[in-house]
Amino acid sequence: MYWKKQTHEQLKESIFKALEQNLDYRGDHPILGVPGTYLDTMEFYPDAPFLKDAPFMSAMVRNPNHIGVHTLSDKSVLEVFKGTQQIEKDLIKLVAEEIFNGDSNQQDGYVATGGTEANIQAMWIYRNFFQKEYGARIGEIGLVYSQDSHYSMPKGANLLNLTNIILDVDPETREITKESLESKVNSALKDGIKYFIVIANLSTTMFGSVDDIDMLGDYFTNINAPFKIHVDAAYGGFIYPFTNPVSRFTFQNPYLNSITADGHKMLQTPYGTGLFLIRKGYFDYVKTEEAQYIPGKDYTVSGSRSGANAISMWMILQIHGSEGWKYRMEMLCDQTERICKKLEKMGVEYFRNPYLNIIAIKAKYMSKELAHKYYLVADSYEQDAKWYKIVVMPHVKPGTIDRFLMELEGEVRGRM
Ligand SMILES: *Cc1c(COP(=O)(O)O)cnc(C)c1O
Repeated sequence: MYWKKQTHEQLKESIFKALEQNLDYRGDHPILGVPGTYLDTMEFYPDAPFLKDAPFMSAMVRNPNHIGVHTLSDKSVLEVFKGTQQIEKDLIKLVAEEIFNGDSNQQDGYVATGGTEANIQAMWIYRNFFQKEYGARIGEIGLVYSQDSHYSMPKGANLLNLTNIILDVDPETREITKESLESKVNSALKDGIKYFIVIANLSTTMFGSVDDIDMLGDYFTNINAPFKIHVDAAYGGFIYPFTNPVSRFTFQNPYLNSITADGHKMLQTPYGTGLFLIRKGYFDYVKTEEAQYIPGKDYTVSGSRSGANAISMWMILQIHGSEGWKYRMEMLCDQTERICKKLEKMGVEYFRNPYLNIIAIKAKYMSKELAHKYYLVADSYEQDAKWYKIVVMPHVKPGTIDRFLMELEGEVRGRM
């Protein structure tokens, strides 16, 4: 994994150059048909002096539309926005090849609105894949995921008429249990499910637990059932590959077919940046032929989307470079490790994956008031919480952690 960090000046030059290659609606171009245009100028006046130094804001104001998927052909989807569409193409290539170790030009992708859309995009593609390639009927396709998975799974299953197959996890290790996998899949087979869309979490939101993608892949291979694995790395996609040098979540692993990796979680990009990546050859299953007015057709759940979002992701990755980002993510893990060591000293039980920055603490060790005071997130707001989690992100100050730990220690001592 390597890409060099760039200076703000270099980024500015690249983005303004890309914006110039788009046809400027303010210029002399005879654009009559394409409805896209710049933001309303009453509030967003284009001659605001700061815009000259603000490439992302300039992209917002110029407002390029990145509708469609830009990695599918060398022709631009909408010629008028070809400059910034190229940045999105470069972004997909960078993330697929440098972060997830894909072979050169063997992956497609786009910047979806978020992890929810990217996960649904994957389910949509595989549902149609099983229908087209195997003649699968609705009612024969199952969506397999652990009980700790994000709620976009049942949401997607509901939209796409997939049958939910929810796997139990061990209450301590949060690993999918082999027994549950076997019994749930066997009963699904008995119910007529023949095809499996399998979700592997590259970190769940609540625990930071990571599913064993090879165990899942081996299991479905051994029982000879058609399956496809989608990795939900909405949360972990921009941290785990940097902290675990022997990650199994790369395109070199044949079990991995597609990935969701949100920018707007660990990468700190604006909301609306949920990256979706998939091996080449799959987008055609969701081609909407009726998208007559889009020269490159449409293949996405979302339709029109802002090019500025892709630009923000590209800029943040470029300003840090791979080494800079790796350092930042390792520092977060070190900080997380320090908290874990202190919890151990206090005898407080917790769950944590060593490559991630989430600590789930057993709720019995702290009062509701303490959890509330520090805005810890509970595993359930309907029943009594069993776990409270801490997410160690750049906004988390060491002093706040120390104060929290001192108060926790006070409570734990008081209970002994
Ligand atoms: C946040 C998250 C999602 C959903 O992402 P949105 O961007 O909120 O749609 C999906 N999966 C996991 C594991 C997440 O952490």
